[in-house]
Amino acid sequence: MSDQEEACLYIVATPIGNLSDMSQRAIEVLQQVDVIAAEDTRHSGFLLQHFAIKTPSISLHDHNEQQRSETLLEKLQQGESIALISDAGTPLISDPGYKLVSLVREHNIRVVPVPGSCAVITALSASGLASDRFSFEGFLPSKQGARQQALQMLVDESRTMIFYDAPRRLKGTLSDMVEVFGDDRPACLARELTKLHETITTQSLRELLEWVSEDSNQLKGECVLLVEGVKQQKDASETEINRVLGLLLKELPVKKAAAITSSLLEVSKNTAYDMALKLQQK
Ligand code: SAM
Repeated sequence: MSDQEEACLYIVATPIGNLSDMSQRAIEVLQQVDVIAAEDTRHSGFLLQHFAIKTPSISLHDHNEQQRSETLLEKLQQGESIALISDAGTPLISDPGYKLVSLVREHNIRVVPVPGSCAVITALSASGLASDRFSFEGFLPSKQGARQQALQMLVDESRTMIFYDAPRRLKGTLSDMVEVFGDDRPACLARELTKLHETITTQSLRELLEWVSEDSNQLKGECVLLVEGVKQQKDASETEINRVLGLLLKELPVKKAAAITSSLLEVSKNTAYDMALKLQQK
């Protein structure tokens, strides 16, 4: 970059499959910076070659991020500009870069995002599920027990939930989701986005599970899973909830009273439980 320009860290999104999604600005920034920090320099080498970008690159991945961030900070302080890229999509979104960005900002050096592809947003935009509010959950734990526990924590989530998953785990994930969210919960499997075999299918969780079990092609490639949030609770008034809880608490323990109130009045289990506890303490 020219000496007059302030050195800064660019966070540059790259395509998640289709190279035509690379923005003109991304190409220009990558050509102009002094160094490109890449998650995997060999992998990114193909992309850089495709766009005739000759800037030298160094690696920044999960295992060297702490130490590498300090080296990169020194370079920025010496006036060099740096671009961060990941293997695909937007850096920091289930990818390295968080330590670097926070360190650089702590030192009051400018961080400039160069937006572009991101699988979570790409999938959401075409899923047909509610997009006004959503919760990005990243990757679920790979062990089944921990995965079920993580899903259980989302049982009352009313926003669309979005998960990244590895194809080899997809069947297990879907079957855990059926168990926790139920057969009929609408969900979307977005596979191979922007690539030749792109498939975006919105069905119930049970139907998705059956589909991927019958067609092993659906277990290949990269995928995003989206699950509709739990239907908004009907607005039972606080007075009504307290009245029902009050009656039930005369005969039942808190947990049971809360569970029945939750089903009867369609309020969340947590809300009913908290209100039952308060009533009991009066
Ligand atoms: N930083 C990336 C982004 O902006 O989306 C995500 C990186 S994360 C390590 C990789 C995961 O993203 C994959 O396992 C998959 O869940 C999702 N993903 C990436 N590219 C995808 C694609 N073309 N189609 C579907 N999912 C994709």
